[in-house]
Amino acid sequence: MKFSKSQKLYEKGLVNLVGAVNSPVRAFASVGGNPLFIKKAKGSKIIDVDGNEYLDLVLSYGPMVIGHRHKKVQKAVHKALKNGYSFGASTENEIKLAKIVCDAFPGMDKVRFVNSGTEAVLSGIRLARAFTGKDKIIKFSGCYHGHQDALLVAAGSGLATLSLPGSLGVPEGAVKNTLIAEYNNLESVKAHFENHDDIAAVIIEPICGNMGVAIPQDNFLKELKDFLTSKGALLIADEVMTGFRSKFGGAQELLGVEADITCLGKVIGGGFPVGAYGARNKIMEKVAPLGGMYQAGTLSGNPIAMAGGISTLTELKRQNPYQKFDEIGAILEVILLETAKKYNVDLVVNRFGSMMNPFFTKNQVTNFKDAQTSDTKKFAVFFWEMIKNGVFLPPSQFEAWFLSSAISEKDIKIFANAVDKSMLAVSQM
Ligand code: PMP
Repeated sequence: MKFSKSQKLYEKGLVNLVGAVNSPVRAFASVGGNPLFIKKAKGSKIIDVDGNEYLDLVLSYGPMVIGHRHKKVQKAVHKALKNGYSFGASTENEIKLAKIVCDAFPGMDKVRFVNSGTEAVLSGIRLARAFTGKDKIIKFSGCYHGHQDALLVAAGSGLATLSLPGSLGVPEGAVKNTLIAEYNNLESVKAHFENHDDIAAVIIEPICGNMGVAIPQDNFLKELKDFLTSKGALLIADEVMTGFRSKFGGAQELLGVEADITCLGKVIGGGFPVGAYGARNKIMEKVAPLGGMYQAGTLSGNPIAMAGGISTLTELKRQNPYQKFDEIGAILEVILLETAKKYNVDLVVNRFGSMMNPFFTKNQVTNFKDAQTSDTKKFAVFFWEMIKNGVFLPPSQFEAWFLSSAISEKDIKIFANAVDKSMLAVSQM
């Protein structure tokens, strides 16, 4: 397999782009080597500029849940393009997408569209503060909620990949209202409430994908929600990753918990830049123009992005692939575990529906500390062998892999073959 054209573009990209990427998770920082440049994608596959074809388990970090370039999405987007790209005024499609989203999430009477997951979460946090009149926010270590100042502490995703505890350029004042708790540990949340009486909300990835996958145990979410209700604090579900992916109504529907504020992104734009935050009327009425919490966006509710979102969610609902996701996910999990056993490699696989990833460790992974016991050197070897054998993975131990409904039986064979070669390589380290 050759990567010479990617290599050339990488060198060219270094001149005017930072590290030749526009998001650090795309750099191959923790696996060594340079990033691949992509030419195109279709269905379950992605093709780089050297013509190498891969089964895509990155899927743009989640949005491409029905695969790349679905016919119906392309048609809807082409149709929207004919009418203009952005108006700075309302369109009917915003109402249509809002109805699809609000119908899917029981705790959402109203929604506001923004342009990214980061914007969705920073607005959701502002809303929690506006509604409660309190300032402090609890986040869990290893969860990632976008790159707003206040939440760039003890974060997963790119920060975990690059081993950064936080970010330069974030003033102390910006994080002084951020408290950190441990995922799956209610006591660590309760302890903060004993010491502070001005906690507005707890934000959580209800199924975490940003330390790799971590799953809420037993009744953790329900108990968390009940506890917060008793304290007059809000639960913010960051479903940027899980919304419409874990189930049509997201992780909350699946886990039987209704958050006070829900943040969305990724799948709701079908690959176009869309984020959203929503809640019940009494909370959303705080948002301008109904209330005093200001939040705005020149391109928010963009007509092309709305068309991408509506067509993707409509097709997703029609396909209802959630059982298929679970069945195929289970097959991939067994392939990983059995191959690891065959080659005597310590491996744990965390999976929830169409989100999964292996950790090269003996320990169960239920929180960030556990995830960090994973051998990232083994992951790096595994990653490159998977690439060389036709499977595109996120270039980090601390990211989830995603399935799309376009995945086929043939793709599973490609996966099994690649895992066999990659586990063998790991066993020979
Ligand atoms: N929240 C979660 C749970 C995410 O996974 C991400 C991105 N991976 C974000 C927020 C930020 O979204 P964006 O990158 O679109 O700003």
